[in-house]
Amino acid sequence: MDISFSAEHEAFRDEVLEFLERALDDDLRDGARFCPGIFQDYDTNIRWHRILAKRGWIAPSWPKQYGGTGWDLLQRYIWSTETSLAGAPRVAPMGLAMCGPMLIGHGTDEQKSFYLPRILSGEDYWCQGYSEPGSGSDLASLRLRADCDGEDYVLNGTKIWTTHAHVANRMFCLVRTNFDGKPQQGITFLLLDMDSPGITVEPIIFASGEHDVNQVFFDNVRVPRTNRVGEEHQGWTVAKYLLEFERGGGGSAGMQVGLRRLRELARQTPSNGEPLELQPAFKRKLDEAGVRIEAIQYTEFRIMAALSQGGNPGPESSILKNLGSEMGQRLNELAVEALGYYADVYQPEARTVGSNLQSVGPEQGLVTFSAYFNMRASSIAGGTNEVQKNIVAKRVLGL
Ligand SMILES: Cc1cc2nc3c(=O)[nH]c(=O)nc-3n(C[C@H](O)[C@H](O)[C@H](O)COP(=O)(O)OP(=O)(O)OC[C@H]3O[C@@H](n4cnc5c(N)ncnc54)[C@H](O)[C@@H]3O)c2cc1C
Repeated sequence: MDISFSAEHEAFRDEVLEFLERALDDDLRDGARFCPGIFQDYDTNIRWHRILAKRGWIAPSWPKQYGGTGWDLLQRYIWSTETSLAGAPRVAPMGLAMCGPMLIGHGTDEQKSFYLPRILSGEDYWCQGYSEPGSGSDLASLRLRADCDGEDYVLNGTKIWTTHAHVANRMFCLVRTNFDGKPQQGITFLLLDMDSPGITVEPIIFASGEHDVNQVFFDNVRVPRTNRVGEEHQGWTVAKYLLEFERGGGGSAGMQVGLRRLRELARQTPSNGEPLELQPAFKRKLDEAGVRIEAIQYTEFRIMAALSQGGNPGPESSILKNLGSEMGQRLNELAVEALGYYADVYQPEARTVGSNLQSVGPEQGLVTFSAYFNMRASSIAGGTNEVQKNIVAKRVLGL
């Protein structure tokens, strides 16, 4: 496999590096470095989002006609790799990586021209209303009911685990419009305003103390029928299309950054009179992680080569989703092991952006245990790893 880049791509990388050097200030880097969960906090996210939007680089994967960059696959890869290596914040995927591509594929012209520019600018911040109590992996069993009344649907029921519903002004969601027949055939896809009367958002606080997810209650919430995407009862097709985008991308560059930080920590951590990094048992774990990350990177290249022939991410996104979440969790486990007691330091104020408080132990201890807890969710959110394995068994291995 030839993985060297052309002179044009190397020039593009230089342009990206020059931009990142200028655009990333200490607050943005700290916001990314001290992010203890899967999702970047809203404030850091939106600051970075607007900087990228101004540069025209906020939606590399969108077609150019809708505000995408027009980059080829390798340029997009270079972009995501270099932003990770530079320690840039993550941008929220709900609008850019999920709702946007879904609208481009299935929205009406009116929906596209209204919503897409607002996703690009950051004016709209989306949340995803799929899961309900009892309907996660078995999503087709969802029961949030939507009854037709004149020009509106009237919604009653609840959604759960809704990431950032407390800061979002819009939600894309799945509702039940028909209770008869096959469950998949009675689902409709709607877009709604979070300030619609009758919506209540209740926080769900993680074991680590963070607030990312919520339960959302709907009490006679009216949604105009023009906010439907696709045909009535046909929302399952739209939902499945969108899930492939949700799972896409393993992000080996982010893992390399995690491993680099871990090595640095192990270098500075004394253990039996020498750096932990040199202790054979720990060194073996670090090297094993390094080899696995390299294998993930090659899997990304392989999938990219297939994608360059055209098509959507497909079931391969399930493979990357599993490899990525497992490796993220492994790096967290090793960080806890390296830090020992200092992993247990609880100093949330020292990791807020702009804080001048000194950390009690190594700086990494400020987020390690929170991240360890929070990243348990990465093999659940976006479809559990067991469910991804079912998809791979069926659609890749043909079992
Ligand atoms: C941090 C976080 C953020 C989230 N954000 C959102 C969001 O923004 N919007 C949203 O709609 N949802 C969100 N979710 C919900 C997420 O999609 C669901 O939690 C997930 O799909 C699993 O569903 P469940 O929790 O009902 O677990 P269940 O489906 O009840 O699964 C329980 C266990 O059974 C296993 N299992 C279930 N079915 C099978 C099967 N067929 N084969 C093998 N094993 C199986 C699962 O792997 C799991 O181990 C989020 C979840 C988390 C943790």
